[in-house]
Amino acid sequence: MPKQIDCPCGETVTGETDDELVSATEAHISERHPEMVGTKSREEILAMAHDA
Ligand SMILES: [Zn+2]
Repeated sequence: MPKQIDCPCGETVTGETDDELVSATEAHISERHPEMVGTKSREEILAMAHDA
């Protein structure tokens, strides 16, 4: 089931699987929030996700 994260910056990150969502979120963080790189674990990212 696809999942998504509504980033506080207003963008929505989506992924078809947990792995896709985590890598898409990490890519978004490194692109838009470089100061947050490495501060979110996989578990924290998945905890922020909800069904798309
Ligand atoms: Zn963002």
